[in-house]
Amino acid sequence: MDKKVRQLHQEALVVDTHCDTLLRLLGRSSGSQEQSAYRLRDRHAEGHIDLPRLKEGGVDVQFFAAYIEPIYKPDRSLKRAMQIFDAFFTEVDANSDLMMLATSAQDILTAKEQGKLAAVLAIEGGEALEGDLGVLRLFHRLGVRSIGLTWNERNNIADGVGDSRSKGGLSVFGADLIKEMNRLGILVDVSHLSDPGFWDVVELSTQPIIASHSNSRAVCNHRRNLTDDQIKALAKNGGVMGMNFAAAFVKEDGKPKLDDLLNHIDHIVELVGPEHVGLGSDFDGIGAAPEELTDASTMPLITDGLCKRGYSDEHIRLILGGNYFRVFKEVWG
Ligand SMILES: [Zn+2]
Repeated sequence: MDKKVRQLHQEALVVDTHCDTLLRLLGRSSGSQEQSAYRLRDRHAEGHIDLPRLKEGGVDVQFFAAYIEPIYKPDRSLKRAMQIFDAFFTEVDANSDLMMLATSAQDILTAKEQGKLAAVLAIEGGEALEGDLGVLRLFHRLGVRSIGLTWNERNNIADGVGDSRSKGGLSVFGADLIKEMNRLGILVDVSHLSDPGFWDVVELSTQPIIASHSNSRAVCNHRRNLTDDQIKALAKNGGVMGMNFAAAFVKEDGKPKLDDLLNHIDHIVELVGPEHVGLGSDFDGIGAAPEELTDASTMPLITDGLCKRGYSDEHIRLILGGNYFRVFKEVWG
């Protein structure tokens, strides 16, 4: 790789708004509070993300999602979220020389300056709130800065993308939740949300929203990707969508290469300009990724690919993380 490209990638703020690595820290679906042997500090042969590989990949900001697995829903969701948070904070404390919890735009700048990973605590599945805005406020105090309202199924906030038959959007509680998330400064994440739910959120949210790990449905026809109309609405709202590396969301035959992922970026940039696209790998939550993107250490290949497609340095910096940083400043302060 060209030295200049590597330098551009190294200097840019690189943000990844979704991974499921926290599940590796706990026994997946085991219901166990015991931490597994997977430590963020060690370089692993399996999986996609650990601190050495994030460093190699030049990733500065990593969202860590507490994904609430269906077996815990609905009535053990909050307890499960707490177990995952505990595993997250145990790792943050054990690796304080290499990473820090980030809850503000300033934290991200501080982490970058100190050469540490800025770790953002997120939730994937609003079941964790168990229908209580008080829990939301406590989550904010704990440092949660982004919540995916649903996973694929329906919950008391909204219908997920897998429950589209009912054509349902936000519930009354869901609408109240958006208002309180806006007030507190927690990102509203519409990935996995049903289409009617997406439109409800766009109408109600007074803050820019994110689709932390969703691609373009025009490029790859999958329900988890956004239509052109949705992308235009997200752009109008000032939001950003993170490109998901999951093979089935990148290319319909499930065998994508890096170029196929870049096609999504090209399409979104053509549609709404370069200010509304970012990265949301979904690493450690997906089986296959584009062939070249084997783990977090391969992130510079995206910068290389964008350079080869003629993107300016300025636009590449926006796509790698500048766009997300604009939203963090606005929503988190
Ligand atoms: Zn997901």
